[in-house]
Amino acid sequence: MKVLVLNSGSSSIKYQFIETSTYSVLAKGQVERIGMDDAILTHVREDGDTVKISGEILDHNIAIEYVIAILLSKNHGVIKDKSEIEAVGHRVVHGGETFSDSVLITDEVIEKIRENIELAPLHNPHNLRGILACKRLLPDTPQVAVFDTAFHQKMPEYAFIYGLPYELYKKYKIRRYGFHGTSHRYVSKRASEILGLPIEQLRIITAHLGNGCSMSAVKFGVSIDTTMGFTPLEGLLMGTRSGDLDPAVILYIMSKEGLTMSEINALLNKHSGLLGISGVSSDMREIISEMKNGNQRAKLAFEVFCYRIKKYIGAYAAAMGGVDAIVFTAGIGENSPDVRKKVCEGLEFLGIKIDDEKNDSPEKEKIITTDDSKVKVLVIPTNEELVIALDTAEIVSKSKVMAEK
Ligand code: ADP
Repeated sequence: MKVLVLNSGSSSIKYQFIETSTYSVLAKGQVERIGMDDAILTHVREDGDTVKISGEILDHNIAIEYVIAILLSKNHGVIKDKSEIEAVGHRVVHGGETFSDSVLITDEVIEKIRENIELAPLHNPHNLRGILACKRLLPDTPQVAVFDTAFHQKMPEYAFIYGLPYELYKKYKIRRYGFHGTSHRYVSKRASEILGLPIEQLRIITAHLGNGCSMSAVKFGVSIDTTMGFTPLEGLLMGTRSGDLDPAVILYIMSKEGLTMSEINALLNKHSGLLGISGVSSDMREIISEMKNGNQRAKLAFEVFCYRIKKYIGAYAAAMGGVDAIVFTAGIGENSPDVRKKVCEGLEFLGIKIDDEKNDSPEKEKIITTDDSKVKVLVIPTNEELVIALDTAEIVSKSKVMAEK
């Protein structure tokens, strides 16, 4: 099935057009600076043909119109008729407690996504805009929503309830949700395939380390705990986010510095993390290169980053009663042997033996532990778009079968 995968943000839309039977990305690209008169559409076809178009794109509707037009274009396109877009799969950030799986989009689903806007005010409205634009532009094409939170919805209550008055959970749905679920789901499944063992028998710790970072304890195929919480601010140290923090610190900073709600929000989300500690950059490549040049604060940021991941490995091994595999993924996890080595240093007692040569090798997907290492450590490039496309194809095919019955 040919599926258009859309990731609609506030001012950008990323897309991939995927043939799910062969996993081929027929074309991909993005529209940036939506809302501006100098928006840019970058479109890359499977054969490498690349085109950049700049112009006024004022909203998501027009942006998606452009995406469809370029897919159809004579010179740069990959289809002859709109109907060749057999389905659309949308990344939706927050499914709240409503969605524990991907779903076919109906008016009722749209309403539920709208109800969850309060939980993800920076993401869900834009995801919804993408959905509504497709409904208008491709009225006969089925659409599926794939949620970042869904994979974590099977966490036990004791893992998702905070130590706050329980009424606040009931009243405002304040609890741990977790994010990056599509990525944790994909890499844990892929790890089981690479290891040749059923996922139902594996206890896997997944570390998604990009600009945003999170880990998940995947026991027998189910996420039983994850580091991000009510919002993506909790847990690991990230590019510009603080991660775990004594909540009293926030009150203290607010009173000392006289900060407003939006200022403290910006401090925690945009000026903390690797950037805040190092004063250098939020980009791990720059942190590592500064550290190697002797910059002590960059070194400290690197150490805090790796130490926290190590701590969660210990925590999640305990939570699952052991660990069989650890997976590193996303920008940092896939590309930084330094981070992987530092995280796993001293974990020999858990049965982890890193093979430096494998860790440094250029392969993208690999096992980086020695053959006799009890716990396998893997590097697996994440592929959220593929998961969205496959979920979409599966749900749409099933719904067609049901409709025929
Ligand atoms: P996003 O969360 O925005 O999708 P990515 O998954 O692309 O981000 O990850 C971005 C992070 O990956 C940045 O911190 C970047 O420095 C880091 N990164 C990319 N390549 C390397 C590399 N070779 N070594 C270390 N870090 C890298």
